[in-house]
Parts: sequence; C-alpha cells; structure tokens
Amino acid sequence: MRRLMEAGGLVMAGLATALGTAILVTAILMLTGWDPLSLVVKAIVPVGAIGCGALAASGYYFGAKWLHQEVTKALLFQMVATAAATLLLYYGLVYALVIATAPVGTPLPGFGEFLDRWLTQTHVYQSLSHQPTVDLGEAGGDAYFNAILEFVGLTIGGLWVVFALMRQPACPACGKYLRVLARKQDLFADDDSLAAYYHHEFDHPVDSAEFARHVGHRHKAPLRPGTIRVSTQVLACPTCSTQSVEEILSLNDGREWREADGGRSVDVPAGADVASAYRTGQPGVSSAA
Ligand SMILES: [Zn+2]
Repeated sequence: MRRLMEAGGLVMAGLATALGTAILVTAILMLTGWDPLSLVVKAIVPVGAIGCGALAASGYYFGAKWLHQEVTKALLFQMVATAAATLLLYYGLVYALVIATAPVGTPLPGFGEFLDRWLTQTHVYQSLSHQPTVDLGEAGGDAYFNAILEFVGLTIGGLWVVFALMRQPACPACGKYLRVLARKQDLFADDDSLAAYYHHEFDHPVDSAEFARHVGHRHKAPLRPGTIRVSTQVLACPTCSTQSVEEILSLNDGREWREADGGRSVDVPAGADVASAYRTGQPGVSSAA
C-alpha cells in the first residue's frame, strides 16, 4: 500500500512540474510572443526544449530523491515520456486559450488545423556564439522538422535529469540517497601544499582532535592559473547514518575549473561522525561502541 502511494505521489510530482513547465512556456509566449521551446543553438541543438524537458522532469527528480526511489526502467520511461508530453500539454494550453479568447461568432478551427497554422507561422530564432540572436522569420515548411526537434530536445532534457538522478550517491547497504552533512572548498597553490593536506588527511583516527584540526583548517591559496581546488562533501545515509567523504579535485586553467584526476570517496568507520570536524574543526561525537 505504501509503495503504491509513493508511486502515485511520484507521478503527481512529475505531472505537476510538466504541467507547470507547459504553463510557464505558454505564459512566456502570450506575454512576449516568443516561444522558449523554439530556441536552437548552432542550427540543430534545441537548447530551449532541452531546458524545458529538464524542468518538466524535475518533479520526478526531487520526488525520487525525497522517496529514495532508485531509477528503474519504469521510472526512466515515465520521466522521459512526461518530459516529451510537455509539448502536447503546451499545444493543448495554447489551443484552449485561443478558443477561449476567440470573438463570439468566429469559426473555430479544429485542433489539427489550428496546430498546423500556428506551427508554420511561428518565428524561428537562431543563436550563434558571439552574435546576437536573430529572427529567421516564419517556420513555414520547416515547421514539422522544428516540432520534431523540440520533441527530441524535451526527451534529451528528461534523459539528462534521469542521468543526474542515477549519479546521486546512495548507501550500498540501504539503497537510500545520501544526504550532505557538510561541504567545504580548499584552494592550494601547488602540488606540494595539496599533498601536505590531501595525502595526510586520514593519517589520524577520524574521531581524534588531530584529524578535526587537519580537516577543519581552511586553505585559501590565491586564485590564479594552476590553483588546485579540493571540493569536499561529507555524506550520510539517512537510515544507517554511515558517512563517507567525497572529494573532487579541480585545476584552474586561467579561465575555468577543470576536474582533475585523484578524486576519491572514503568510507568513514561505522558509528563515527566527521561532519563537525569538516565544518568547525572540532571532533564529532561518535556513537561507535
Ligand atoms: Zn545506509
């Protein structure tokens, strides 16, 4: 019974964000005359539709995390189908608005006739890098290709969210998504200063004052090309409370951060709490026997 209610709740969350996305896109179209779904980059990448597909599937993402549902084939199908169905919801909403606001006495088009006329008259926008977005005029005969491109974009957006959910770390024993208890970022000027911290992070027992002092210290090297960043998260299972320390290394190349080799996930011994050590430099209270 509980599983059935959870599955129902998840579908409701997914439908809510899909409908919300369709309403948002319709509202933007009505207020500005611009269809966010039609935004295409480099002539073929439907970024507007991908973004809307991700937004539409986000209800499933947060619902699944909240209910600790792993990605099954059924959930994958639901997420992608819901993202793609946003297109139909959107067409339906625009059609309903057109019918509702038509002056009394005007002949009302059927849905198919309306859709054909509306799609072929929609303006196409193109955005090339380092150039302003340009209006390419009415879609005309390209309309159905554009509609398929939007459909594909929405599907990709949905899949993107599915992969984001699959990448969420989960407790191997309980299958529950892990919660973040502490976060910190350290910057190191070179490999030597990184090694002094990173390679000796777990030299001391995790419940000792030495460990807490070592990991609680904030390293703030100046930001310049070659600076190394360690992004640390203390994660915990909401059921068995077992913790792990996830660390990602990135290198600043002068323009942006690029993930570097050497990241790791370290399991904390059962019963130990390292979150306060990373947050404050004070050892946590461990419940280990
Ligand atoms: Zn667990």
